[in-house]
Amino acid sequence: MVEFDTDVIVIGAGPAGASLAGYLRKAGATACVLEREVFPRFHIGESLLTMSIPRIASLGLDLAKAPYAKHKPGAYFHHDDSGENLRIDFSHALSGSFPYAYQVERQYFDHDLAECARALGADVRYGVEVKGWSEDQRGVSVTGEFGSLRGRYMIDATGQHAIFGRRRRTMDALDRFGQCASFSTFGNVSSEFAQRHVGNGDITILLIDGGWVWLIPLPEGRVSVGVVEKSPKAGTTAEDVLLGTLAQSPFLAPFFAGAERIAPIRRITNYSYYNLEPNTARCGTVGDACAFLDPIFSSGVTVAIATAELLAGEIVAALRGDRELRLDEYKRTCQKGYVTFDRLIERFYRPDWVRNVFFASNREDRLVREFTSILAGDVWRDDNGIQQMLINARAPGRKLAGKSS
Ligand SMILES: Cc1cc2nc3c(=O)[nH]c(=O)nc-3n(C[C@H](O)[C@H](O)[C@H](O)COP(=O)(O)OP(=O)(O)OC[C@H]3O[C@@H](n4cnc5c(N)ncnc54)[C@H](O)[C@@H]3O)c2cc1C
Repeated sequence: MVEFDTDVIVIGAGPAGASLAGYLRKAGATACVLEREVFPRFHIGESLLTMSIPRIASLGLDLAKAPYAKHKPGAYFHHDDSGENLRIDFSHALSGSFPYAYQVERQYFDHDLAECARALGADVRYGVEVKGWSEDQRGVSVTGEFGSLRGRYMIDATGQHAIFGRRRRTMDALDRFGQCASFSTFGNVSSEFAQRHVGNGDITILLIDGGWVWLIPLPEGRVSVGVVEKSPKAGTTAEDVLLGTLAQSPFLAPFFAGAERIAPIRRITNYSYYNLEPNTARCGTVGDACAFLDPIFSSGVTVAIATAELLAGEIVAALRGDRELRLDEYKRTCQKGYVTFDRLIERFYRPDWVRNVFFASNREDRLVREFTSILAGDVWRDDNGIQQMLINARAPGRKLAGKSS
């Protein structure tokens, strides 16, 4: 009798799970991905950072040819009240940072990435929900209505569902960041004002009283828009917040003139957290199941894919040694990325810092490049002075660093 159905059971076929399975296959391990939804399915989070692009290509997906992808050369930040602004051009980063990214309609992107994992040999199963698991000294058995499956290792890539951390009660919510996002998609966004700001493919981040707004251009005149509130007002609906903000903002009203809403208005709340004990001897977490921070810098998918590559390397080393996982180094590397974005996001919610530091003009070229590399998601290098400064800055609280298991 064969003891294991597969080397690695990956739960969830979002960007984290799909890329992990792809990397595992490329390294010669077998992987079975169990995804509860039938793809394509809606997902928020359309704006990629540049450092994800070579990795996505290495997994077999060429976004230059994808009809759901829009070229993204930079990011434009605009203060709604004062009109102060700053444009980041991704081609003006430190040497080695990839120069451009894409914005993608996630239902198609996620599906294609999962199918790339399948093309690499992963066993990808849709409509299969994992309900439980048990870990023993030799492996992990997962269960659900499908029956059971046994692997040498199990990785939780279930995104915000984070089944591993929630069941083990190791999730630590962060209340320092935005708490509530109300969002939708508009079509026929063709005003001259909109063209001026997102016509070249830049993401626009608009800073408003009490939060910020994303404007993510997608193919064929579609734009994803979301309002993030730091302290949501009790009793307001997602419609109140999104449509009210669009009507009142001097930037957004002309932007959406003549446009029509083509998707439901959705809301997500309380989405920032760390999993304080994300890994065990036979199980690990990757992507949002490990941690998620406020999406202002669009870091989620890029960090998920980059850390999936690292995790695949650790799993394959364990497989070769026929041993348990040793994920301390993986955890430290993940934390370097998370801490960098955490400290930057935390500053972004300080109005004085934004006015006096972020929007300050006449920066030295080196500083511009360092900052751009961070916003490109190039956060695992050792020559970035701004990143070092952020990492060494005083932690806002215990919750940032987590336990060091
Ligand atoms: C408001 C908001 C805006 C965002 N904007 C951006 C952005 O612009 N750019 C960006 O990069 N990121 C953004 N993000 C974050 C981004 O969406 C996530 O970081 C990214 O989707 C993480 O990928 P993942 O694979 O870890 O999780 P997911 O993409 O969520 O995938 C997890 C998968 O697991 C499946 N699953 C869950 N439970 C089970 C189960 N029990 N059994 C089987 N399958 C299961 C789910 O169906 C899902 O398909 C945003 C997030 C929010 C909340």
